[in-house]
Amino acid sequence: MGVPSVFLRTFGCNFKCAGFGMPRGELSTEAEDIASVVHLYNTYEDLPLVSTGCDSYASWHPDFKDLSPMLTSDAIADRIMEIIPHGEWQDEHLVITGGEPLLGWQRAYPDLLDHPKMEGLTEITFETNGTQQLTPEFREYLHNWNKVGREITFSVSAKLPASGEKWEDAIKPEIVCTYEEVGTAYLKLVVATEQDIKDAEQAVDEFRKAGFTGHIYLMPVGGVESVYNLNAKSVAIAAMKRGWRYSDRLQVPLFKNEWGT
Ligand code: SF4
Repeated sequence: MGVPSVFLRTFGCNFKCAGFGMPRGELSTEAEDIASVVHLYNTYEDLPLVSTGCDSYASWHPDFKDLSPMLTSDAIADRIMEIIPHGEWQDEHLVITGGEPLLGWQRAYPDLLDHPKMEGLTEITFETNGTQQLTPEFREYLHNWNKVGREITFSVSAKLPASGEKWEDAIKPEIVCTYEEVGTAYLKLVVATEQDIKDAEQAVDEFRKAGFTGHIYLMPVGGVESVYNLNAKSVAIAAMKRGWRYSDRLQVPLFKNEWGT
């Protein structure tokens, strides 16, 4: 947080996370309600923000797919050069997010990362839900990419029951442990209630038993300030009590979580 970063957001996710911000057992319909009037919107940036469910719904819900551009590696590299201040990589990190960025996109990243304009890049973070195996080819590619003094981080937001996803589908320590073979990984667990924090403890226990060594972060639920402000302080205190780390959502107070932030 606070590091100048370019976010590359890929389309598609294996989850929906419609439980965030909802009473336990209930699922948000906000994304579906917006999808029913998708004809009113011309780009994803015009879509409304949601206060429940996944706040990145435009990056995976099939009804919004046509609102996102399909870009070649050349076009993505050019766009990045326009965004970063000096027209070349300096302190900037590349954060590859989604949706779930470790779905089939693994096949596309080598083409982008080998692009001449990406040569000065020294740190990549994958923001993943931690359910996707690295393919042998991509694992090998990352091993080689890492060899020359660069850093790869997996920011693993494993989904607790508060997300609405099932434990057995979402908590995959054996997969996440393999990420630690090619880079650094940490867990970022999104919580609001006491029950969520108990779930976080159970998940951490399972990850540790599987051999996961990375740091643990708690992050408050809340893509909009009204929800986020309810949770932030109590979640920070819960993290402190357990010797875990706390992750803010800087884009919420600074930019109101608007698209592109
Ligand atoms: S895993 Fe992430 S991107 Fe996918 S639905 Fe859940 S919160 Fe959204």
